[in-house]
Amino acid sequence: MSDSESSRRRTPSAASAAARPRRARAAAAAEGKAPRARRSGLTRAEVETVFARFAAADPEPKGELDYVNPFTLLVAVVLSAQATDAGVNKATKALFAAADTPQKMVALGEDRVREMIRTIGLYRTKAKNVIALSERLVAEHGGAVPAERAALEALPGVGRKTANVVLNIAFGEPTIAVDTHLFRVGNRTGLASGATPLAVEEALLRVVPAAYRRHAHHWLILQGRYVCKARRPECWRCPIADLCRFEAKTPPPAGAMPLRPYR
Ligand code: SF4
Repeated sequence: MSDSESSRRRTPSAASAAARPRRARAAAAAEGKAPRARRSGLTRAEVETVFARFAAADPEPKGELDYVNPFTLLVAVVLSAQATDAGVNKATKALFAAADTPQKMVALGEDRVREMIRTIGLYRTKAKNVIALSERLVAEHGGAVPAERAALEALPGVGRKTANVVLNIAFGEPTIAVDTHLFRVGNRTGLASGATPLAVEEALLRVVPAAYRRHAHHWLILQGRYVCKARRPECWRCPIADLCRFEAKTPPPAGAMPLRPYR
């Protein structure tokens, strides 16, 4: 059915639902307000500016977990739950040198894996999951990491966030994994509010312009990790301070040079 046929066949209620956003935009325009991105406290133009600035500062942002292939990426992300990337990298250096495929990981065995990752929190459970997911990859996926969300989330120790990271980094999908940093930055700035990580993820997927979705996860995680920190955000050197809705912005410490504001 062509688009024109489809619109001719719309029921009256569907047609009126489709007209609602247009009416809202028209009402906003009549009141002299800029249209807002759906579920964002920022206007569409402001959201665009946020990501244009991130992109200008860091066109190809990278994660901070070390890996050599999709399998080691998957293992590193599983190990990173409630642990720092630096701590995970320290442990995986020797682990991945010994086992960079599911087959080698199974051969290494749970006891040895547990020993090699014992500096990471929850290492007993994580060692069990790493071996179990390696066995599943060998048995069900020919030793390859699947590129589908459902297959990834069916693996032991792999949830939505881990699947999103693997789909994004290993397979180039425009997924946005919401961890503690993205959850805080989304809510604090007003960019994408939500009571749960899933709600923030869905809001981000609605408001982040398509051109920026591929790297949005990395830009926001780096923003949360190094600038918009949990205890005390460093608003005085933040590249999006003029767009952010957080009211209690922090002043620069004595002697610090604030960034020149973007205009
Ligand atoms: S202005 Fe402050 S609160 Fe807002 S994003 Fe920047 S660091 Fe975070």
